[in-house]
Amino acid sequence: MDVDIAVIGAGLVGLCFARALRDLSVALLAPEAPQPAPASDAPFGARIYAISPGNVAFLRALRVWQRIPEARVAPVHSMQVHGDDGRARLVFDAYRAGVDALAWIVEDAALQAALWQALEDREHCEKRVGTQCTALDVDERGVRLRLRDGGTFAAHLVVGADGAQSPLRAMAGIAVRARPYGQSAVVANFECERRHDNVARQWFQGGPILALLPLPGERVSMVWSLPERRAEALLGSTPEALCREVEQASGSVLGTLSLVGTPRAFPLQRLAAQRLTASRLVLIGDAAHVVHPLAGQGANLGLQDARVLAGILAARAPVEDIGSARILRRYERARAEPILAMDAVVNGLFGLFRSPDLGVGRLRNFGLNLTERLPVVKNLLMRQAMS
Ligand SMILES: Cc1cc2nc3c(=O)[nH]c(=O)nc-3n(C[C@H](O)[C@H](O)[C@H](O)COP(=O)(O)OP(=O)(O)OC[C@H]3O[C@@H](n4cnc5c(N)ncnc54)[C@H](O)[C@@H]3O)c2cc1C
Repeated sequence: MDVDIAVIGAGLVGLCFARALRDLSVALLAPEAPQPAPASDAPFGARIYAISPGNVAFLRALRVWQRIPEARVAPVHSMQVHGDDGRARLVFDAYRAGVDALAWIVEDAALQAALWQALEDREHCEKRVGTQCTALDVDERGVRLRLRDGGTFAAHLVVGADGAQSPLRAMAGIAVRARPYGQSAVVANFECERRHDNVARQWFQGGPILALLPLPGERVSMVWSLPERRAEALLGSTPEALCREVEQASGSVLGTLSLVGTPRAFPLQRLAAQRLTASRLVLIGDAAHVVHPLAGQGANLGLQDARVLAGILAARAPVEDIGSARILRRYERARAEPILAMDAVVNGLFGLFRSPDLGVGRLRNFGLNLTERLPVVKNLLMRQAMS
């Protein structure tokens, strides 16, 4: 066999998984070369993640987190979720929960650059940049991968981290349930007049959902999930018009806003692979599941997949075949329930806050206020989001 594991896809999740593997040889396939790390004084890119404390600890253990300059990371000390009746509010607080931060905000480019740098320290990791896998031949001993450039190589196990459209998933014949949300997320960064005090704010607006996440300094990152036409119109508006709309939707809580950089839009879909594994093949990250960004949990779920799969492989018996059905079953058992649970929570919230029914409207705002007054429920929600 040429390598133990072939990792297909070098997004956040594939890179992290390749870094987390111990004592196993890896070939990492990336269609594009990595982007250089952003300069420490460059404006933030529009792709931002809220990373959970559990995943920050994981990235720290892999010596990835330490490589991101402090100036490119912001802690979230408090989270405010607003209902759509102008009154209901749910507040989460890091101090009361006894933690440093509820989440950490980091830009995609800085995190990916840190992951690529950390991979340089890893022995037996062959990076095959600028190539793609076009076919798989699986037998009882291993998998032979055929590449676009005509080359082939063999591995014991193939890990698909190639994103929501996952060509590998299709090659393995794994079906998906996919449904567009009918929304696009408009992302943009703003300079704000008032201090954000490291508070992440979110407004449910009876369908649309606006989030303003704190960045270092007096800047915020916006994710505004809107019906597709409205998202397109917003993206086409002038920077001034965009700023005024966001100020109005957020009740001017951060004062006057000025746009920094170029806004972008991402069409949103819900997707679940019907199986997480096939013969000698495992799916991780968006290749396995895509959830609405309203809870900022998509990448977090994917990083958990990487963490769990690397842990299962590290804990195997010395002679155990890493592509065996037993190993794959362990992964599927460990991940199926947390993935389903997150999908159910995110989709439930999306449906609840989109319903035009007046009774449902009262109920959802009552639910927010009730959760606010029930410390046990609040703590449960928090623990789920922080793992
Ligand atoms: C607006 C928005 C905001 C979000 N905010 C958050 C947040 O705050 N927190 C959070 O946890 N999540 C968030 N998410 C979700 C998060 O962006 C995704 O879950 C995450 O990027 C998935 O990472 P991935 O590595 O699995 O897939 P991807 O990032 O899609 O990476 C897949 C990689 O595979 C490569 N690839 C594709 N085809 C092939 C092939 N044939 N061969 C080899 N490689 C291939 C691609 O080039 C890419 O590099 C957000 C999503 C959106 C849309």
